[in-house]
Amino acid sequence: MSGSNPYRSLPSVDQLIRSEAMTPLLESYGKAEVVESIRGLLEEARIEIGNGRVWSESFDWAKETAARLGHELADTLLPLINGTGVIIHTNLGRAPLSRKARTAVVEISRGYSSLEYSLSEGKRGSRHEHAGALIRRLTGAEDCMIVNNNASAIFLVLAALCSGSEVLVSRGELVEIGGGFRIPDVLRQSGARLVEVGTTNRTHPHDFTDAVGPETAALLRIHPSNFRQIGFVTTPTLAESVAVLRTIPDRVPPLVIDDLGSGTLLDTSQFGLAPEPMVQSSVEAGADLVTFSGDKLLGGPQAGIIVGRAPLIERLRRHPLARALRVDKMTLAALDATLRSYRRGSALTEIPVWQMISAQTEALRRRAEGWRDRLADAGIESGTAKGESTVGGGSLPGETLPTTLLTIKLSNLDEFVARLRDHSPPVICRIQNDLVLVDPRTVLVEQDDTLVDALIQTGHGL
Ligand SMILES: *Cc1c(COP(=O)(O)O)cnc(C)c1O
Repeated sequence: MSGSNPYRSLPSVDQLIRSEAMTPLLESYGKAEVVESIRGLLEEARIEIGNGRVWSESFDWAKETAARLGHELADTLLPLINGTGVIIHTNLGRAPLSRKARTAVVEISRGYSSLEYSLSEGKRGSRHEHAGALIRRLTGAEDCMIVNNNASAIFLVLAALCSGSEVLVSRGELVEIGGGFRIPDVLRQSGARLVEVGTTNRTHPHDFTDAVGPETAALLRIHPSNFRQIGFVTTPTLAESVAVLRTIPDRVPPLVIDDLGSGTLLDTSQFGLAPEPMVQSSVEAGADLVTFSGDKLLGGPQAGIIVGRAPLIERLRRHPLARALRVDKMTLAALDATLRSYRRGSALTEIPVWQMISAQTEALRRRAEGWRDRLADAGIESGTAKGESTVGGGSLPGETLPTTLLTIKLSNLDEFVARLRDHSPPVICRIQNDLVLVDPRTVLVEQDDTLVDALIQTGHGL
């Protein structure tokens, strides 16, 4: 066929757009995206023809366009199955919300709401009212404020109350929390001046009083998050710090600010875990302000909760940063519903984080064995083994909960877990000692069937 133009074998954009096979793509992605993808494909085809390739008539343009669009516009934020056994997994969205919290989000976001409207007075209200009564009752604090996350909470407190002044921090608590959130940097950014007190392993009450000067605004206590010191270590309790600062003569005592990180409203020691500091205990011990996260052990939406003395909270609300750090109505709705579960005394049965922490080892074993048996029926060999789940979220470092793991042994484990990540929905699990491990503690009970299907499909392909 010498003389014929090889580029003539390519269809036009117009022909392709009008072909029936493209209709579903046009519906889901829109014309602009589909046209752009087709142009890209045609461009590549012309280059290949220029390099001497002969273009096949049977080339499936719709399929290639779909693949390209799927790759470029893939949803990156997807629900998935957490088989890792890390309950508050920061990379996997931290706390799953309770059913009541999810319903509240849907209800409040569907239409208009009383976000900043007082229904009793018929005029402008404040978004700071919401969840306030619940938080005061649950923590015993005079007042509270809710911001975007606990990092914002600490930053706002320091910027509003300590800027230009000195803040005392024990050297053992000058930590990096993760994601580059370093306490010394946060202090500097807020305009406060850090005064390091004591030593890395030991700080005594008198170290604080010795360090207090005319410029001292506050003592900041920081939960060391997922870092633990052992051995020759001591640090004053919150109550000791409050008491010793009150002994300084001729001076209003510096504020005591307690960053609890996760914090908790329920006693973790009832589940065989170390006691994680409780918010109500910090308030009772005399902290002026306490900050904690909404989506760690509280089990609610991402938020930072500041509780403490009313005049201080009022100053925070009036600070210019308050507006920049405020939360959305969906967060407030989810938080309110989560707190109501605590108030009703049903947190353990309604809030997923606590359902997982309090799951019975016997029930976990039965689920893992059930998965194993269903995989066996499908011709996939697996086993179960005793293992350990962790709480995560910077709480309870080194603490574990006993569990039963599903174990799968395959020659190409990396390929298997990669395909599980690619599955819809994706399944995330651990690899340890040449075994794939799936922990039932963090797999929601309603996800059991989906998980088993994913393992069977993925396992069969290998
Ligand atoms: C997690 C944590 C924070 C940050 O909380 P976010 O809600 O993630 O912003 C701050 N301080 C401590 C001690 C923490 O553990």
